[in-house]
Amino acid sequence: MKLRSAILQMKPYTAGKPISEVKRELGLDDIIKLASNENPLGCSENVTRVINELSTQVNLYPDASNFELKKELANQLNVNPNQIFLSTGSDSIIRAICSIFIEQDEESIMGEVSFQRYEDNTKLMGGKVVKIPMKNHGLDLERMVDSITDKTRILWFCTPNNPTGSMISKQELLSVIDRIPKDVIFVMDEAYYEYVDDENFPQTIPMLDKYPNMIILRTFSKAYGLAGLRVGYGIASEEIAKYINAVIGPFDVNLIAQNAALAALKDKDFLNRVVTLNREAREYFYSEFEKMGLEYIKSQANFVMVKINTDDKLIFNELLKKGVIVRPGYLFDMPGWLRVSTGTMEQNKRFISALKEVL
Ligand code: PMP
Repeated sequence: MKLRSAILQMKPYTAGKPISEVKRELGLDDIIKLASNENPLGCSENVTRVINELSTQVNLYPDASNFELKKELANQLNVNPNQIFLSTGSDSIIRAICSIFIEQDEESIMGEVSFQRYEDNTKLMGGKVVKIPMKNHGLDLERMVDSITDKTRILWFCTPNNPTGSMISKQELLSVIDRIPKDVIFVMDEAYYEYVDDENFPQTIPMLDKYPNMIILRTFSKAYGLAGLRVGYGIASEEIAKYINAVIGPFDVNLIAQNAALAALKDKDFLNRVVTLNREAREYFYSEFEKMGLEYIKSQANFVMVKINTDDKLIFNELLKKGVIVRPGYLFDMPGWLRVSTGTMEQNKRFISALKEVL
């Protein structure tokens, strides 16, 4: 077999076992998963209705142009529909971006503790990632921009950052943005955008005119609760959108996903409930961690990183035995920490009491 050399470095994504399997193995029937930043409120009832209505139409191909969904997004975001692209989760858009901008031995720059898929997809194209150490658990934008070389094609600005929950402030972005060369793309990965409540978070869409090398990514997987349907989108200049639309598959966003996303966008009450619960959950975690004397990172997303000062793999397993699944920090190069997603208040309380028992 003759393979592209980049493929030899790639490994299939290794996910944890499905909950059904964990339940069988541990003999538990009540497991809560606060590990994948999923929406504990499910999704909008309007979405469920649309999904049921479409169940007899799955013999049809979806609309390859995503016309209605793009139109609604364009209206809500105040951009031209030609600036929008959609795919099977923003994950697939990250791959599309790498396939457009990265050639063999070229580089992208990311935070040392940031979203793993930037590295995987850069490598897939034969490129390399340069990882920049974090500054107070946040991305160090100054150092990221200082590290640009002739080989740099993309900067990955994950904000709020997964897994630390930290955000890039308006001031931080503005202090470096004019030093980014116009032929270097910077991706504002705003997967957790809807949860942000800090007024210093920069509104990036209006900046697109001035910075045509910016790409903004968002998703329906988090606050809209459609992770299982796989719909992500992005906004950029019409030129970049054209290239991205040319490389993503014409039917990536399936019939049910397109219509569900459209219904989700129209239900602002659901979104408000999600964001309100998330804020309450974060505050509850902060106050419990403080009472337990544990360090944590203030988060603008739907998860919080907490320092448990002991072996995170061990604590992960002890929590698992009690039916609580979280993400151990060693997976993100943050040993001694756990990342916990916000759940319903009942789930959050169960996590805290399990954590008190195992620490
Ligand atoms: N970006 C970030 C920062 C994420 O945390 C995730 C999901 N974990 C994604 C992108 C991809 O999300 P999706 O493919 O579900 O849209």
